[in-house]
Amino acid sequence: MARLIFITGGVVSSLGKGLASAALGALLQARGYKVRLRKLDPYLNVDPGTMSPFQHGEVYVTDDGSETDLDLGHYERFTGVSALKSDNVTSGRIYSQVIEKERKGGYLGRTVQVIPHVTDMIKEFVLAETDGLDFLLVEIGGTVGDIEGLPFFEAIRQLSNDLGRGQTAFIHLTLVPYIEAAGELKTKPTQHSVKELRAIGIQPDILLCRASHPIPEEERRKIGLFCNLPADRVIPALDVDTIYRVPLAYHDVGLDTQLLRVFGLDNAPPPDLSRWQDVVDRVKNPEGEVRIAVVGKYMQVKDSYKSLSEALDHGGLANNVKVHLDWIDSEVFEREDAAVFLEGVNAILVPGGFGERGTEGKINAVKFARERNVPFLGICYGLHMAVIEAARDLAGLEGAGTTEIGHPKHPVIGLMTEWVKGNQVETRAADGDLGGTMRLGAYTAMLTPGSKVAEVYGATEISERHRHRYEVNTDYARQLEQHGMTVSGWSPDGRLPEIMEIPSHPWFIGVQFHPELKSRPLEPHPLFTGFVAAAVQKSRLV
Ligand code: GLN
Repeated sequence: MARLIFITGGVVSSLGKGLASAALGALLQARGYKVRLRKLDPYLNVDPGTMSPFQHGEVYVTDDGSETDLDLGHYERFTGVSALKSDNVTSGRIYSQVIEKERKGGYLGRTVQVIPHVTDMIKEFVLAETDGLDFLLVEIGGTVGDIEGLPFFEAIRQLSNDLGRGQTAFIHLTLVPYIEAAGELKTKPTQHSVKELRAIGIQPDILLCRASHPIPEEERRKIGLFCNLPADRVIPALDVDTIYRVPLAYHDVGLDTQLLRVFGLDNAPPPDLSRWQDVVDRVKNPEGEVRIAVVGKYMQVKDSYKSLSEALDHGGLANNVKVHLDWIDSEVFEREDAAVFLEGVNAILVPGGFGERGTEGKINAVKFARERNVPFLGICYGLHMAVIEAARDLAGLEGAGTTEIGHPKHPVIGLMTEWVKGNQVETRAADGDLGGTMRLGAYTAMLTPGSKVAEVYGATEISERHRHRYEVNTDYARQLEQHGMTVSGWSPDGRLPEIMEIPSHPWFIGVQFHPELKSRPLEPHPLFTGFVAAAVQKSRLV
């Protein structure tokens, strides 16, 4: 049976609990253990799918088509293990299952209560699909003391009791702030946070203390004394120069060694961290730099493009260059000449998005990339914008647009109401619910031999993740092909265009899916490797 590691947070949010969990997963994996990571989110939305990126950052889509928290992206990037629907659970999902069961009479007339019925449902979710694992790492969203988090803390407390000694460990991530005026690190917030945790009945086994300054031995002892822990289980987590260093840094301060001791695994094999060391060396010693413009909509919240910026970094790693990103709000191009902003960049990327605002600006950015031979990658909505631009400017279809915005004269992008997944036909109603009605998750695409994209992938059959409602309208595809934009990837049934490219352009590719979701530092995605390589070439021409 899998051993469970619970990771909770205290003092403040945004301490990087997701990253800490992911890095710990990578460390255990480097020792040869089989791991999986899971996130419990206390909010009431059933999943983050309908939340604005401004609210919640990026929605991370898994292979099996669920819309999940962006922390699952960290988990996948650090461990390479593809996440599943069962790896992200919210209060909304738990409660809806409990209520559904109650309506069906599943509780046999009993009063349905938070304890034990909600907590039982949480425990069921935690333990689902864990066969064959050595460790399951479970991150609890929010911070200890949040009202909405209480059932989750209660459930994990019960689990440690149910499963018995040596089966579970609790790691608590806290902040040890440095007070500039006093020139001191302060341990009190950590003490209070642990007090809160112990009031719920949870004694942490390890404290991971985020700090901007080294924590002296004496302070570690003091924290240990107040929090009922030996000093060597009070582990400093200092800020690092790159996130890829986190697994190495944690190992250096003994996090994995101490954790394994909690489980009585004193003689675990040492980790092989050479691949992480290699990644860090590449990040620290780039041979050059490229500038890439990302022309999108949610620019104020960088977390809305988390996987994208990571994937571009991975592309840089693969090419030994530093990727400098210019985040540009596309609305700017509706007022000003795009050339002023784009003249100096080596490549242009238009990412996914929704709704009308900023679309004409994105189309202007595509036009600049196409006309000036600047490498271009369009992702999902970015592909839609590229198709609209080509329809208007190459094929002369004035009024070409997407039915996502009004009723264009030439609907080159439209709603498909039926498509095939595996052997099954899936349907979607034009006026259906917003939650969970998109084409979601992994789909196969067949690439045209000899196309740019087949060269980039080095394959003719791929699988990528989707999250969208609208598709390229095949009624117009032939017309576009006659004017220089070809379909170079199709769904296996030949009904849905998945990739479009302009063969006469040095590097112009638009994809209907989100390749950024599958890029990892140890395995950069071919599209990003190819795109950054094209940017490097362009930078040499300038
Ligand atoms: N808004 C577009 C659609 O729903 C594109 C979505 C996206 O970019 N992820 O089809």
